[in-house]
Amino acid sequence: MEIKKEDVLITPGMQAYIDKNNQYLAKRDKYIRDVVKKWRFDTIAVHGLYEMTEAIEDYQGAIIEPIFMSASQAYRDSDEMAAALAYKIPTWCYSRIANPSTYYYEWMLALLEGYGFDGETSCCSTSSGMAAIMTAVQPFFKVKKNASEPRNFVATSQCYGGTFQQFAVRYSQEQNIECRWVQNAVDIEEWAQKIDKNTRLLYGELPSNPQQNFFDIKRVADLAHAHNLPLICDTTVATPALLRPICHGADIVVQSATKSLTTSGFGVCGAVIARKNLVTNIDDNELKGDFALCVKYLQNRDFGPNLHPMQAIMTINDMRTLRSKMDLMSCNTLKVAQFLETHKKIESVHYLGLKNHPLHELASKYMWLVDAEHDAQYGKPVNRYGHLMSFCVRGGAQKTRDFFDGLKRIWRATDLGRIKSVATIPAISTHQQQGEAGRTLANIPANMVRLCVGAEHPDDTIKDLDQALGRI
Ligand SMILES: *Cc1c(COP(=O)(O)O)cnc(C)c1O
Repeated sequence: MEIKKEDVLITPGMQAYIDKNNQYLAKRDKYIRDVVKKWRFDTIAVHGLYEMTEAIEDYQGAIIEPIFMSASQAYRDSDEMAAALAYKIPTWCYSRIANPSTYYYEWMLALLEGYGFDGETSCCSTSSGMAAIMTAVQPFFKVKKNASEPRNFVATSQCYGGTFQQFAVRYSQEQNIECRWVQNAVDIEEWAQKIDKNTRLLYGELPSNPQQNFFDIKRVADLAHAHNLPLICDTTVATPALLRPICHGADIVVQSATKSLTTSGFGVCGAVIARKNLVTNIDDNELKGDFALCVKYLQNRDFGPNLHPMQAIMTINDMRTLRSKMDLMSCNTLKVAQFLETHKKIESVHYLGLKNHPLHELASKYMWLVDAEHDAQYGKPVNRYGHLMSFCVRGGAQKTRDFFDGLKRIWRATDLGRIKSVATIPAISTHQQQGEAGRTLANIPANMVRLCVGAEHPDDTIKDLDQALGRI
């Protein structure tokens, strides 16, 4: 909690609050260490850090985490307020800074992304996935010596359209912070060649939305660390149920929790999860020590991309069954992909779960259904590849739109991660703003359809695709 720069004068009254709260924090750390860290993934996803004693003592026994619809917190006296606002005691102050409901969300995500990781993780909630990406990269763009020094970062060109815009327009064009795109992310040499003394971070999305690109996380993390740089990964498509980059050496993970983490689709939210003591060439010990907490209490306090408590609890509610949903929807997606692969009106299918996908073997090294080996159904490790796929329709852009317009039950929407199957044409939606050249760089042809397969019976999803393909 010691993350405020200026020294605050601690009065004896404040010290009493600090001592009392240190006891509480020590108790909570012990509970995490001795109890929660020993649970399996599903147990953490169901309970997080909200437990019965706290519920009975403080919240009239509510078995579900309460939604704190309050803009601010009141204090017993000025000593408690001063200690709280100096971040010397656990607090939430004001809902732009923190909120008890968003704390539950953050603790749960920190634990899920840190599952199996031999170290500590923490999380900062954000209002969206884009806000999470901004929150994660901004601190590394700090001016070091003078405002004219060159700054750059290296990122995979096959990424979400919004990410492409943020990097190419907002940072590169508008702020002269150059994004150097890696086109073939499995080629470690290409990453290495783009790094120089002005590089601030490496960034990669995997599996990429919608192309299903992938890279070797461990090798890219090793490369980053050899240059004293952090590796930031966007694993929105995989979720921590299938892939946890921090376990493989990444420093920070960003999630658009809007997607598979909030499968129900009730709203937009995001998260930044970071390992403690991360690697960076930025000279800031607080940032290195606890990145997520530091950006939450300082940077995001000042920029304000905070998450609403209502959305935090709705997402928690969806995350409780994350593992089983990702298993079911991954299996459904594989069946749909196998169907499309054999269809004569389909030019190509991009799904990492298909054996003939060029990155299948690499993805299989990293993408595992968490705890399958402890599962009565499987009893051994099993690979799962998520529920996002893309495919290209034969005959060009117009035929692709005709097919798309013929879908009856699969929703036409710019969305993914839903319990319901949803399809879009990236070139006219998610990747429309970046223009033809940007789409070529990101491998988005006009006849590509992105399909995110939901929990419906796959036979019904296949039937809808088949009848729509029958129209062209
Ligand atoms: C949707 C998405 C984002 C952006 O998230 P929002 O919650 O829509 O802001 C970032 N990365 C990936 C991979 C996404 O799919």
